[in-house]
Amino acid sequence: MKIICIGRNYLAHVKELDNALPTEPLFFMKPETALLPAGEPFPYPDFSKEIHYETELVLRICKTGKAIDEKQASGYYDAITVGIDFTARDLQSRCKAKGHPWEIAKAFDYSAPIGEFKKISELKCTEDIAFGMKLNGVWAQQGHSHDMIFSFDRIVSHVSRFVTLEEGDCIFTGTPQGVGEVHVDDVLELFLEDEPMFKFEIK
Ligand code: MG
Repeated sequence: MKIICIGRNYLAHVKELDNALPTEPLFFMKPETALLPAGEPFPYPDFSKEIHYETELVLRICKTGKAIDEKQASGYYDAITVGIDFTARDLQSRCKAKGHPWEIAKAFDYSAPIGEFKKISELKCTEDIAFGMKLNGVWAQQGHSHDMIFSFDRIVSHVSRFVTLEEGDCIFTGTPQGVGEVHVDDVLELFLEDEPMFKFEIK
């Protein structure tokens, strides 16, 4: 499986990092080794001094597709959860300044903790999906899918023009505003709608 991540998909987050507004979905990828095994703590990596959380809705692809028409795209994903797109912001800033790829800042081991998937049809409200993350018991990020610049269908259609999507692939759909640093001993708890999905520690 592969992990695809959309960047700059919420206006307020684009502004907080002083980035340009994208005219089409911007994506990058993480390898399967970026998954954090369930129940394990996130090991703070020794190559960064500024690891940021980005709390995101994550889609799961349910069938193979290439160059998927946006109107057909909803048939290619059927499950959703929340996850963290961990980012070594210090390394990313250096990469951006030099015009280099971002992989060292985004694709590192355990940089993609993901909750258990839930069928989209079982959500209370599919039109506007609420999600969020509590850091040490206090809300750090709260988002709503209707604030996305590019919809799930647009994202799936766009990515599949370049990369064949396969069953089991995951798509992080972008972070709302409020990204910030984590520190050793922090506890992160992620929510989908009002349901707690998973909790883990930084070690
Ligand atoms: Mg992100």
